[in-house]
Amino acid sequence: MHEQSISQMLDALDRKEYSCEELITHHVDRIHQLDEQLNTFITHTAEQAVTRARVLDTARAKGEAPPLAGIPIAHKDIFCTEGVKTSAGSHMLDNFTSPYDATVVEKLQAVGAISLGKTNMDEFAMGSSNENSYYGAVKNPWSETAVPGGSSGGSAAAVAARLCAAATGTDTGGSIRQPASMCGITGLKPTYGRVSRWGMIAYASSLDQAGTLTRSAEDAAILLNVMAGYDPKDSTSLFMDVPDYTQALNKPIDGLRIGVCQEYFGQGLDPDIESGIQLALKMFESAGAVISDVTIPASQHAIPAYYVIAPAEASANLSRYDGVRFGYRCESPADLADLYQRSRNEGFGTEVKQRIMVGSFALSAGYYDAYYRKAQQIRRLIKDDFLAAFKKVDLIIGPTTPTPAFKIGEKSEDQISMYLQDIYTITSNLAGLPAGSFPVGFSQGLPFGVQIIGNYLDEARILNLAHRLQLETDWHKMSPEEFS
Ligand code: GLN
Repeated sequence: MHEQSISQMLDALDRKEYSCEELITHHVDRIHQLDEQLNTFITHTAEQAVTRARVLDTARAKGEAPPLAGIPIAHKDIFCTEGVKTSAGSHMLDNFTSPYDATVVEKLQAVGAISLGKTNMDEFAMGSSNENSYYGAVKNPWSETAVPGGSSGGSAAAVAARLCAAATGTDTGGSIRQPASMCGITGLKPTYGRVSRWGMIAYASSLDQAGTLTRSAEDAAILLNVMAGYDPKDSTSLFMDVPDYTQALNKPIDGLRIGVCQEYFGQGLDPDIESGIQLALKMFESAGAVISDVTIPASQHAIPAYYVIAPAEASANLSRYDGVRFGYRCESPADLADLYQRSRNEGFGTEVKQRIMVGSFALSAGYYDAYYRKAQQIRRLIKDDFLAAFKKVDLIIGPTTPTPAFKIGEKSEDQISMYLQDIYTITSNLAGLPAGSFPVGFSQGLPFGVQIIGNYLDEARILNLAHRLQLETDWHKMSPEEFS
């Protein structure tokens, strides 16, 4: 069962090959047997999941099952879930039980998807390796000495190890695409505003976007159909119709104009990744796509701009964790200042504290113009470069990450080389564009993906091209031996 895609599971449920309860119990058992070694979950909700499966089986027997009834999923622990601990990977929220559901959680629940639990993540989504979690590092199912990528590392590793059919994630600078690439699965970050951020614990609000971690582009389309759409509770969500993303999957790609981003093929790119992407391009070309070069010159400034803007927004967002209203509170504070200081000092991890300090510094009077304003100007230039490129091409292609998954501990002392892992992903967050990562090969036994970036609201076109790739290759069907 666990090797099936969402649509195969739905077919099997319809044909009564198994019940929702059997499907859920099977995945719950796998989690019990296999997750101790991977550490992909922070919280299990097995009992609630089985109870819900029984309810959905009854509904199905009456012909009243909602469209995704029984599909086993998991939520990144950044999404608020009513009555269930929501930690954001932080000691600060270790004692926090959300009083309400995030819109994404609510929508998936309404169509019958069943959550098996909350997945591990870098603290407050800050990281590229999932080593910054209060709950310990997640292991990559393809190699237990390797990181799964971050910050949605628990979600990506759980899907790759076939512990659930799909999972939610968030992407502020690459946190869906990067772990998807490193775990050999499909990850899609939609256009900023396409999916509601309500109930998603904020990291950098102008960049954060919820999306999907799945086995295939088809599964991503199925989930995006549910997750996308206007939400009056999120003032930045787009007031626009949502297309049926599954409709465009099989469109022919002849005449599709694909741009190869020149800046993405320079120094530091693993040669196997480069040749994997070239092979995919050849395949697209023989299916009729027209390939040309494009350039995003301002992308060379993307990392410094991102690492000013994201910490600046984080410093404001994380000021709410003061030990007073919710979350961690230190023992016996001497006075109010001591309460604030010790609660924040003991509640936050090192990376989070560093970013709060960098962000506060960048926003302070006297430095605002030199750092924050300049970073916002770079952001505008990156957006303009993309808009110019999208006058010539329909989609842009490049690698997702410069290397396959690195070893646990390898980069934790070297912040710059960790931040450089985001070099190909953060440009689309800065511009607000949709982008996905799709498995396209292996390097040193570890998977990697090709990144496809689309114009605003062009998720359907990204998924169309990715589906074509997945019709012609089997990379997305491969699973790590121990977990197949
Ligand atoms: N690695 C980036 C960071 O640490 C991106 C994280 C994310 O997308 N949430 O900020």
